[in-house]
Order: sequence, then C-alpha cells, then structure tokens
Amino acid sequence: MRCVSTRGADSGSLSDAIATGLAHDGGLFLPERLPHVAVEGETLVRRAVSLLAPLFEGDVLAPQLEAICAGAFSFPATTRWLSADTGLLELFHGPTAAFKDFGARFLGETMSRLPRASQTTVLVATSGDTGAAVAAAFHRRPGFRVVILYPDGRVSQRQAHQLGAFGDNVRAFRVAGTFDDCQRLVKQAFSSDLRARQALVSANSISLGRLLPQMAYYAHASLEALAAGRASPSFVVPTGNLGNAVACLMARAMGAPIDRVVLATNANRVLPDFLATGRYEAQPSVATLANAMDVGAPSNVERLRALFPDVAGAVRADWVSDEAIRGCIRRTFETFGEVICPHTACGVEVLHRLRAEGVKGDFLVAATAHPAKFDTIVEPLVGRAVPPPAALGELLARPAHAEPMAATIEGLTQALAS
Ligand SMILES: *Cc1c(COP(=O)(O)O)cnc(C)c1O
Repeated sequence: MRCVSTRGADSGSLSDAIATGLAHDGGLFLPERLPHVAVEGETLVRRAVSLLAPLFEGDVLAPQLEAICAGAFSFPATTRWLSADTGLLELFHGPTAAFKDFGARFLGETMSRLPRASQTTVLVATSGDTGAAVAAAFHRRPGFRVVILYPDGRVSQRQAHQLGAFGDNVRAFRVAGTFDDCQRLVKQAFSSDLRARQALVSANSISLGRLLPQMAYYAHASLEALAAGRASPSFVVPTGNLGNAVACLMARAMGAPIDRVVLATNANRVLPDFLATGRYEAQPSVATLANAMDVGAPSNVERLRALFPDVAGAVRADWVSDEAIRGCIRRTFETFGEVICPHTACGVEVLHRLRAEGVKGDFLVAATAHPAKFDTIVEPLVGRAVPPPAALGELLARPAHAEPMAATIEGLTQALAS
C-alpha cells in the first residue's frame, strides 16, 4: 500500500516510508487508507501478520512479513484481569521491560531487510524507554550504529544505566536539556546537511515502522477477550508522544473489536486540554514521575488529526498529577496486590475516575513498563523490593557509560562525528 504524508506533499511505498522516517515535507507518513481486516490466527505473531499483511501488500517486504513479525513479537503481550471487569495489558515482557520493545524490534527487523548504506546511523531521542528499546533492537546488528540522546537527569537511574550499558555499536549521550530539546535536535539533524554527510535514519515514534506493529497487541488482546466470552474491551493508554494510543485507534479503525479508547497523560496535559477546547497548543514539557511521558509537543498529534478529524468523538483524555500517581500506585498495591509503574498508574487512575463516574464495561489499561525500572519511586510507596525481570537485571549488572552533550546542533554534529 502507498503511504502519504499528513501534509500531503510526499508519498511512497510502505518500506520507503519506514526507511525515510519523517516525510520530506515535514509531515508524518500514514497508510493512504486503513483497510478493514478480519484478523485471523490464535497467537500474537499470527494475528500481527494477518493485521499487517494488507498494509504490506505489493511491498518489497511483503514476502518477509512473517519472519519480521516472528522476530519482533518474540515475547508475549499478556492480559491479566485484576477483577471481573478491569485488567492490565502487560506490554513489558521484552528485553528492556517497556512496550517500546515491540515497535523497536519490528523496526530493526524491517530496516535490516531494506537496502541502505553500508554504515547506517540510527539517531534516536528518548524520554527514557525508547533509547534502550532501539539500542536492544539494533545492538550488534551489522551495518548499524545507534546514537541515543536523552535528557540528563530526567530519566530514572535504572533507565540511564540501561541506556549506557549496551556498548559495542551503541553510544549514549546525556543532553543538557529536556526531551523536547533532544527531539528538536533529531528533527534538525534530518533537515540539515548532517543527513548528506552520513546515512541517518530515525527510530522515534514518528517512524511508521514502530507505530504499525503496536496495533497488533491491541487487536490480539481484544480478540482474546472475545474468545473468553467477553464483550469488546475498552483500553486506557498511558500517553506521551501519542504513538501507542494512535496505534490503538488505528487497530480499532481496521476492525479490531475495541470499544472505547481513553488517553491518560501525566501533568503534561496538552492532549486533554486539546480535546476539551479544540485548540492544540504545544507547551514546554514539565518533569513528572512518569518521565517517559514528559512530552509537551506530542508529534503524533498530526497523525491523530489527519486520521480522525473528529478527534473528540474518537477518544477522550484525562491527566494525572504526580500526587495522584503516588496515590494510585499505593492503592493498586493495597487493593490488588499489584505493583505498577508510574506510567501505568496514570492509566489506572484515569480508569478509577471513569468508574467513579459510573462507567461500566471491561477495561484494559496498557501496562507500558515494568515497575522495577522505576524502583526508587515505586518501592517506598509499596514498602517492598521490586526485583527486575531477568533481561533488565542482566543490563543493570553491566557497566554503563554516557557522554555529555550540549543541546545544540553543534553539540550533535560533534557527537555524530566523534
Ligand atoms: C514511551 C512511553 C509511554 C508513552 O508512549 P507514547 O507512545 O509516546 O504515547 C508510556 N509509558 C512508558 C513506560 C513509555 O516508555
């Protein structure tokens, strides 16, 4: 299928769009239409192939879609019902313990099958979890190196350690600035002559190669619910750059049996304000406990508006303060014996408010990261140790190194040249 830019000037095949990342007109690529798909199969991998196949129709990668999905969806997306009508969709069973492993691995599997320069630099800005997921997906992949930019002091200690622990073809830079600065630098790099000097590819959530596979676990979880005799579930999606939530909305638009989609942000409340007022106003990001969602200018807004002109009819949104995040982590542990991460807590808190309004029906909250990534926040609240899953524990046991970088294009130029 052809892909078109949200700004209309640029188009290409799906693999062109994946390889290019950002469209040349500055917009974001989307498939030219979202076909209705009757998803087949029982497993996450089979369902991913079935859902994505119409989008890859006619593409050079079509014959390899099964292998790509087998590589990307190599760990489960698990539904855990905490009560009769409320559950978590656990998306953190991958190598870096956050949902971004799915998208990053899919991107790695597709990019390594596409023609490219002999030495390609994957440039990625991260608010905490993307960088590690992309690093893990491209670690020791021949022909690739990864350059990670993260805001110094604004990611959790374990996230920072993880980012610096890969080594080999992965380099981490701690930028003197915010995530929005890191994201701006990456965008600048792509529109500057840096791009002419070396083969640069993006791995941010603007890349279709990360966005599209994220549809699969929503389709999978909703079909699992139906198979268990339930009605179509609703999803609450903890949201920052809006990639995960747009994927959920796209899965629904392609026919996955999904009822409502609700966005949960932290105190970076640009999206709830947009939905309430109809006016989109980007803001400087503020630091919160749910740091991977500290985004003041969510880039996927452009996709949301292009896909769903009646945004307020497609989705609702609410925001959660740090105090409410803490309260929710405590309450969820007391009520269900379940330890959740601060991002997941935004979702659980928003659902708690919906229930208080009398909203009924089956809801799944996307559990976007393992709580052990945020041990210094979570452990004091629940009063017990939260051991890391095995893969995270292995990374944490390795030495870590990150280099300082100024939040300027000169700083980035130097970093890329060094
Ligand atoms: C990235 C991230 C989010 C936000 O996802 P978006 O796709 O940027 O909206 C939420 N939770 C965690 C743990 C994340 O790493």
